[in-house]
Amino acid sequence: MNDKTTGANPAPKASSADDSVAGMPARLLRHFIERAALSIVLIVALASLGFHHVFVNELSKFGEETATQLGKLISTTELDALYPRGSTEQSIRIEPRNVSTFDRRIRPILDAFRIHDLRMFARDGRIVYSTESVEVGTYKANPLLTAAIKQGVAESHIEETHHTGTGHQHDHASSMVATYAPILIDGKIVGAIETYTDVSLIQNRVYSALFSTLAILSVLLGGGFLIIYLPMRHGMQALNRLSNELQVRATTDVLTGLPNRRTVLEALVHEHARITRSAPHLTNPGLTIAVLDIDHFKRINDTLGHQAGDDVLRQFAQRLQSRLRPYDIAGRTGGEEFLVVFPDTNLTDGLMAAERLRAAIGGSPFTASDKPLPVTVSIGIATLHGAMEGVDALIARADAALYEAKAAGRDRVSVAGETP
Ligand code: GH3
Ligand code: MG
Ligand code: MG
Repeated sequence: MNDKTTGANPAPKASSADDSVAGMPARLLRHFIERAALSIVLIVALASLGFHHVFVNELSKFGEETATQLGKLISTTELDALYPRGSTEQSIRIEPRNVSTFDRRIRPILDAFRIHDLRMFARDGRIVYSTESVEVGTYKANPLLTAAIKQGVAESHIEETHHTGTGHQHDHASSMVATYAPILIDGKIVGAIETYTDVSLIQNRVYSALFSTLAILSVLLGGGFLIIYLPMRHGMQALNRLSNELQVRATTDVLTGLPNRRTVLEALVHEHARITRSAPHLTNPGLTIAVLDIDHFKRINDTLGHQAGDDVLRQFAQRLQSRLRPYDIAGRTGGEEFLVVFPDTNLTDGLMAAERLRAAIGGSPFTASDKPLPVTVSIGIATLHGAMEGVDALIARADAALYEAKAAGRDRVSVAGETP
């Protein structure tokens, strides 16, 4: 290895920044799913609220219209009973002896309008008729009744009532629209009417229609989500594969499959930092490296061709890799040059490991162009000399040792001195 590579500013580590890029497609997809689910829930909830609001308004209007129509109907058909001809009174009244016949005539109308309870009031708030006969003659006062009698305002609200079952009947709840409306005769307010219209049936129908609508809406939204999600997931998976492939390409030497120059140097920087941190005062903290250079490699290219040279490089990498301990790191740093990092290894053990590698290369011939080919390697090794020594200095000493091995006749391991 001839050129300085790392120095004070080592190559950037393939660490969390790269990991975050690699995980980005999955994260984007997760965000999309979360937001889409939230949006669907919000849309369905808001639609439910909107429907409910509109429905309650419509029911109130329905109650007001029913009560107003009923008021008109009763005041027209029962004019004589309520407002004797020639009377100068400003208010309706029913002779006590006429109440029961009035009640008999009015019941079918109430049933037709689904009216549960009816009260009719004179202008002074006295009940002149009630479906609860005991109330007749008593007084009632509340702001809605006053508004109906004094200002002619019709107003409704919905009341949920709970009926306790008797005999075979079950307990059940029903919804009533309670309405106060004025009774007008010749354009004058002569009393008021209070009705309780049972809207349970219509309410049940509307709510079941609403439920079906919301179910359809949810299915449509879910379908729309899937239409977007599925191709998106497909794209994200492709992106993930691409990102993983790029990651491999960025860190691996294509020809040999070994870590590339950048990756093995990063590993060395990492080991250097770890070992100098854990043993800052030791003269030999235990980090050994070997630089390897195939002997007379140019001749192989020149005599057998570039392709044979490539085959030799691949076989060399395989032999190298298979002779290393699991925690040793080997990488291709140049044409026919390699770097091996032996973590937690002193010079003696590093020398043995390097000898083992040299023997593995030179011990048996390689195969090039289907013929056996002897290949040898020269190795320079260096052990980190204290925490103060940097990675570049360590590599420079190993390079110098390699140069010595070449000069001494090749196919040998040379150990670096303390200075290059
Ligand atoms: P020495 O014993 O002094 O190391 O001699 P050498 O011939 O091995 O060294 P030299 O640096 O003169 O030649 C290295 C050759 O390696 C030159 C170059 O064409 C070749 N080479 C570099 N990369 C590749 C590659 O990827 N494939 C092949 N086939 N050859 C390569
Ligand atoms: Mg070389
Ligand atoms: Mg060489």
